[in-house]
Amino acid sequence: MSEGKRFPLSLESLASRGERNGAQRMQTPQTATRNRVQTVEQRPPGDAARPMSMVSDGVRTAMVGRLAKQGIRDEAVLAAMNAVPRHLFLQPALASQAYIDASLPIGHHQTISQPYIVARMIEVMRANTQGGMLSRVLEIGTGCGYQAAVLAQLAGEVYSVERIRSLHELARTNLRPMRIGNIRLHYGDGMLGIPQAAPFDGIILAAAGLEVPQALLEQLAVGGRLVAPVGARHQVLQLIERVGAQAWKTSTLENCHFVPLRPGTVG
Ligand code: SAH
Repeated sequence: MSEGKRFPLSLESLASRGERNGAQRMQTPQTATRNRVQTVEQRPPGDAARPMSMVSDGVRTAMVGRLAKQGIRDEAVLAAMNAVPRHLFLQPALASQAYIDASLPIGHHQTISQPYIVARMIEVMRANTQGGMLSRVLEIGTGCGYQAAVLAQLAGEVYSVERIRSLHELARTNLRPMRIGNIRLHYGDGMLGIPQAAPFDGIILAAAGLEVPQALLEQLAVGGRLVAPVGARHQVLQLIERVGAQAWKTSTLENCHFVPLRPGTVG
């Protein structure tokens, strides 16, 4: 696996914060992740127990193994997924499920995206003619900030827009202790993009519209790639490449399921 950027803080120190929370939640359905955590918690006192952070490292590595089996080939994406502690983006009651391949609630009827789809969208965005080089990317729909943290491992600068103020603030709170220097969080309507920061080498939408907003197509650099879920009840993942000043090429990749892209702001 290729090297991902490391966080300035040790992931162990971050992870142990989450594990402490994690140890308090017990009422969730059975999952492989939870069983693993319990195994460690039930060790007799005095046993030379591994630090709890190693448990989350282990389940995260297992998640990355499953992503590879599901077809994610880009080693840099797998390394980035391995580097970001997804459980620290969830409320304590859900942290035990952080490494199963599922979207999970983050409040306000929104979800943290499923690990597979996060990895897949980034892999598609990186398959550009620049060998995966991305100096500036835009994400629409920050949510809890997880995908922005993964993107920050792979791009020079990440701009991420969220329309619900309290989620924008949640993302700030989640990302602050990780001290990732290359993420710019914006509160606003992502359908308008961020014209003052354009053009972007890559754009990812984490919410599904009936079509991709024109403003985002305009803010894509020539040679850049935009990846977005499109549709209402039936949704497909689309790749849109800007092939010229006034030319875009659309391909449909696979079915997917995202929360809706909505105009305006809340809060
Ligand atoms: N990127 C997140 C996924 C968040 S879910 C992750 O890492 O898991 C999608 C988010 O898109 C929601 O928080 C929703 O509020 C937001 N959203 C929907 N329409 C939007 C818009 N027009 N502008 C910005 N954010 C939007």
